[in-house]
Amino acid sequence: MTRVAILGGGPGGYESALVAAQLGADVTLVERDGPGGACVLTDCVPSKTLIATSTRMAVLSESVSLGVRFSGGSDGEVGGPEVDLPLVNKRVKELAWAQSADIESRVADEGVRIIRGAGRLVDPQIVAVGDERIHADVVLIATGATPRVLPGAEPDGERILNWRQLYDLPELPEDLIVVGSGVTGAEFAGAYLALGSRVTLVSSRDHVLPNEDEDAARVLEEVFQRRGMNLLARSRAAGVKRTADGVEVTLTDGRTVTGSHCLMTVGMEPNTRGMGLEEAGVRLDERGFVQVDKVSRTSAPHVYAAGDCTGILMLASVAAMQGRIAMWHALGEAVQPLKLGWVAANIFTDPEVATVGVSQAQIDSGEVPARIVKLPLSTNPRAKMQGFLDGFVKIFCRPATGIVLGGVIVAPRASELILGLSIAVQQHLTVDQVAHTFAVYPSVSGSITEAARRLMQESAY
Ligand SMILES: Cc1cc2nc3c(=O)[nH]c(=O)nc-3n(C[C@H](O)[C@H](O)[C@H](O)COP(=O)(O)OP(=O)(O)OC[C@H]3O[C@@H](n4cnc5c(N)ncnc54)[C@H](O)[C@@H]3O)c2cc1C
Repeated sequence: MTRVAILGGGPGGYESALVAAQLGADVTLVERDGPGGACVLTDCVPSKTLIATSTRMAVLSESVSLGVRFSGGSDGEVGGPEVDLPLVNKRVKELAWAQSADIESRVADEGVRIIRGAGRLVDPQIVAVGDERIHADVVLIATGATPRVLPGAEPDGERILNWRQLYDLPELPEDLIVVGSGVTGAEFAGAYLALGSRVTLVSSRDHVLPNEDEDAARVLEEVFQRRGMNLLARSRAAGVKRTADGVEVTLTDGRTVTGSHCLMTVGMEPNTRGMGLEEAGVRLDERGFVQVDKVSRTSAPHVYAAGDCTGILMLASVAAMQGRIAMWHALGEAVQPLKLGWVAANIFTDPEVATVGVSQAQIDSGEVPARIVKLPLSTNPRAKMQGFLDGFVKIFCRPATGIVLGGVIVAPRASELILGLSIAVQQHLTVDQVAHTFAVYPSVSGSITEAARRLMQESAY
């Protein structure tokens, strides 16, 4: 029986444990904090649970235009929804630990042995946890990553925070400064704005979401500003310090911004140091990420790696797929190498931004020849009825054949809508095939088939 040892119990680790156990291996999973990993306990699951509340708040706040009236306001003012942050945080933490417990029993049911503790390699085929030694034929490193700390802006857990400390806040920040306008910064800035905080988003670049679809970033910026967010572009934070009653962020050009709290979202660092990896022959890049190939092999024989510690594409779905591929490969199953071009991703802002396949930047640079159609949500009947007018559906296809290459959807619940395009990309469907597919009337997904029809018409000329 092949012995498999896995370091880290996030999606990269526990999904591989399930695959390896189902393939008949003897599997040991070593996890420091709790099954499910940072994904379930501090990052993805908690943030999406918080966002479930903030999205509900945004819907309620904007429902006045649909004829909903709130009563119960004081001094002649109309009442509105209010958030009970301790209750929200309690729900977030309980849900995360319940999810972790579900994963633990699922993994244990498959016969995986779980060891609580921090593991390290003493040899490419020996894992140590305290005094215990686990001898393995195959080792998988899936130890994830940790929030990066900007020197001079060290979190104190009270006023200067990383996102893992947010769920201990006793009350809603009155005046939140979010440093960093990537996916994590944009999601939390939008969420706390909807929950009722005043929010300033400090971005070192020209726009929010600098690495995402430009049209999508523009829509979000407009929505954020319309809802009252203070956006500071081309503003790089140099340091953050506590004041008597809050925080002061100093920018590199000398300006200062004051608020009640500051949330730092300036990236992640891999959990790979001090674990004996390099000594065992596992090559790290200059930032400390484990170098892997498309079947998750590292430079050390029998040692694989998956997930955020590889820095490939920091998503739970990618971590899980890298881990499964590693186990299929190690245990002699047929395996398809990781294809990043097929990854569907979503930014959980309001509206959401979902993408799959090639990007418009690749098309604009000439790297990928493609035709593009973009339909604004304001032309979609269902969106009009629901009062959601910010967003669009955009599809890219090959010029001659009409094969769908990718797309972007900016809409409420875009994460649920992208599947249709994802299937089209992975199965090499043409815009004709998508156009001939029934969509419900009225529905936002009707804009996907409508966009495909427009691309079909274009190819007829
Ligand atoms: C705020 C936020 C929101 C996110 N939202 C989403 C989302 O909506 N969708 C999505 O797809 N992705 C999301 N992500 C990304 C996602 O959380 C990560 O890509 C995912 O957690 C990576 O999984 P992993 O298994 O590599 O690592 P992790 O989930 O980080 O798990 C690694 C585990 O290994 C443990 N560990 C570390 N060192 C050791 C050791 N020496 N021995 C034993 N155990 C060890 C750690 O304690 C941790 O529990 C989000 C990330 C953040 C920061």
